[in-house]
Amino acid sequence: MQITRGYRTELDLNNKQITACKKHAGAARYAYNWGLKRKQEVYQTTGRRISAMELHRELNQLKQSELPWMYEVSKCAPQEALRDLDDAFTHFFRRVHLKKEGKWKGPPGYPTFKTKRQGLGSFRLTGSIHVYEQAIDLPRLGRLRLKECGYVPTSGVNVLSATVSEEAGRWFVSVQVEEEVPDPPAGTSEPIGVDVCINRLAQCSDGRVVENPKALRSELKRLKRLHRRLSRKTKGSQNRAKARMKLARKYARIAHVRRDALHKATSLLTRAALFPEERAARKAEIAASLAEPKAKVKRRKGKKMQPAETPSLPEQVARKVKKQQIKQRLRQATPANAHVRPAVVVLEDLHVDGMKRNRKLALSISDVGLGEFRRQMGYKTVWQGETLLLADRWFPSTKRCSRCGNVKEEMDLSQRIYVCEKSACSLVIDRDVNAALNLAALASPPRQPGPYREFLGKGETPVERGALADLSQDGSVKLPSAKQEPDINYGLSIHG
Ligand SMILES: [Zn+2]
Repeated sequence: MQITRGYRTELDLNNKQITACKKHAGAARYAYNWGLKRKQEVYQTTGRRISAMELHRELNQLKQSELPWMYEVSKCAPQEALRDLDDAFTHFFRRVHLKKEGKWKGPPGYPTFKTKRQGLGSFRLTGSIHVYEQAIDLPRLGRLRLKECGYVPTSGVNVLSATVSEEAGRWFVSVQVEEEVPDPPAGTSEPIGVDVCINRLAQCSDGRVVENPKALRSELKRLKRLHRRLSRKTKGSQNRAKARMKLARKYARIAHVRRDALHKATSLLTRAALFPEERAARKAEIAASLAEPKAKVKRRKGKKMQPAETPSLPEQVARKVKKQQIKQRLRQATPANAHVRPAVVVLEDLHVDGMKRNRKLALSISDVGLGEFRRQMGYKTVWQGETLLLADRWFPSTKRCSRCGNVKEEMDLSQRIYVCEKSACSLVIDRDVNAALNLAALASPPRQPGPYREFLGKGETPVERGALADLSQDGSVKLPSAKQEPDINYGLSIHG
């Protein structure tokens, strides 16, 4: 299986390199803004859409006369920026189209001008990119040191591009590579349901809990103070610049904490759940099978490299590289760990934008990063040979009893314990565990529309309606009202 993925790591730059990177980012931003203005002009005068290729040709003409400074940067930076602009328009028109069909709620998002005030931004380079254990060679920028050793693969991958970006004074590079990985054998373990909740990040039906670091909420007070300090500084002063930097660093930290927690959670849920002892044993096994890492040396033109010539790495570096290699092998899906990987993962297809309209919940929901959680679950399940199911957003995962299937009419958010109303069942269970179990039940074999299928959306059949009526004798079941918007992916949509 060939996968395309990115490796993002921090750069360790000196002052000259920082200046060069700033120039590149500036050129990319200039090209984007210039292209946007040009597109608007051309459209207004001729009604024609001008493509990135034409814009690039025009820009090259301009370089000779008006923009000589652009020769200082790699040609990729403005070129790729113009390509991004084309993408921005493609997505804008896609959303306009969706809006006409009534499938898009928000604004279509017309591309806007980029400003330096919102961060220096980024630029993408293509062409001759070489990755070494502790450095990366980029066109025009030369060799840049990396802070992390051995994370980005140095061989066996096809490097597509590298994106350099700035975040509150720190510089990062994201290397996009095409990678050939062994086909993941399908997981055979019990299906799991994952309830994404608010006070916890995720509750798995097998009992595993991922706590939410509440990145934003825990920093609100400090953010407020930093904002206040910034607003009190004289405009244009050095102290104001310092205060702005402090605030930017705080926001960057919040984003990093959240990103880290999300990646850890999605990896934990999709990858094989090994016990610590099993994990240690597997680690030792991989370590024994791996060869000593060799240094990567740039090949001279026209000279064949003898295998004996490749120098071995310094001991400390070799250790770090090997550690990374073991880590990478450990997370691969193999036939050996198929029995501990779930066959199916069921997620709730939550209506995030709708929930954010609830003012009390908005902050908590943004703090979890639900959309990103689902995106990561999407590709990580594919990498691990698992099937991802999305339960319909009207499936009553919290209101339904996971033992007898009785559906409560109301389940307040403050009720943390689910108590079944049926005297015969009288199940008492944690609210989130109950929801996760309900989701898992959707996937347990035989995966047929059960009585609860009724709640998967608008398309229920009379037969299913009858089945449901049998189940709840009091007939207190709430059917989704006709007013609720039609869902694009009705029912269970299978991804991957
Ligand atoms: Zn019950």
